[in-house]
Amino acid sequence: MQNIVQRLLAGDRRALARMVTLIESEAPQARHYLAELHQHTGRAHIVGVTGAPGAGKSTLVTRLVRALREREHRVGVIAVDPTSPFSGGAILGDRIRMMELSGDPNVFIRSMASRGNLGGLASATRDVVRAMDAAGYDPIIIETVGTGQAEVEVMRAAQTVLVVVAPGMGDDIQAIKAGILEIADIFVVSKADKAGADQAVAELAMLLSLDPNRRKAAWRIPIIKTSALKVQGIGELVDELQKHRTYLSESGTLEQRAQRQIQSELQTLVLQAVIKALQAEVSEEEWRKLGEDVIKRECDPYSVASALAERIGLKHK
Ligand code: GDP
Repeated sequence: MQNIVQRLLAGDRRALARMVTLIESEAPQARHYLAELHQHTGRAHIVGVTGAPGAGKSTLVTRLVRALREREHRVGVIAVDPTSPFSGGAILGDRIRMMELSGDPNVFIRSMASRGNLGGLASATRDVVRAMDAAGYDPIIIETVGTGQAEVEVMRAAQTVLVVVAPGMGDDIQAIKAGILEIADIFVVSKADKAGADQAVAELAMLLSLDPNRRKAAWRIPIIKTSALKVQGIGELVDELQKHRTYLSESGTLEQRAQRQIQSELQTLVLQAVIKALQAEVSEEEWRKLGEDVIKRECDPYSVASALAERIGLKHK
């Protein structure tokens, strides 16, 4: 039998599903497989979709996937919910609507939920993106439920971030100002079949015009009205996604963003390795003893840290 890496590269959905499960459960072989897959990644356009609950994200993503399928794309979707406990990869209740896409062999949908720490969810999402990328899905859409800090963290894995705002959600615009404005590349005013869509567009345009950084930026954030109900604006949105992708590569922004992301990923991976090495080297008993000694002022934390770093082979000054 071919191994999971070869099957995944050949586009085998079961191998991809297995890989995602390994990533989610933090199985040690996941890293090994991901290392092998790495040279086959970096091709997919990674699109983030965020916005307040009820803004119409899942409905929009479903329409978007359909439009992309009409253009012959194989599409990956990751629905991320930082507020739910780990779901074991099950489709979350309110994402059930997306099930209508799940019969299509060229659409791969996976839900992911929180596993306690923020960094863990963001890095698992990034790894799942890589697995889908290696399996030939492009674009890969990451959808989050809300607009909090956890969502912003997850969105850092995306190249193009869509922020969805529904008409009459004025409070959301305040929330966007506080949180996700800085990461938005495209605004979508959803439910354009409802009253107030034009007002929402005007409010967003105002918000953007007030931001001095945005005025100088080479990419002017488009504001697109869509109606998932009447299937309007979806084609335009697909075109804008493509335009943004072209802008990213032609301006060198893609490379800059990738550099930043990789550097922070490398630092995280090294930190994890250091912590593991420390855990292997120092027993719980010894940690307690060291803590006591520092508390009693028998030694200072700086000297203790230096000695520990030296014990695991780190050069420490
Ligand atoms: P999410 O929480 O952001 O994923 O939002 P949903 O996609 O679940 O949509 C929230 C509600 O808005 C649902 O009841 C949808 O049926 C409704 N909705 C979504 N898109 C549209 C639209 O284009 N027009 C109208 N009138 N309602 C919509």
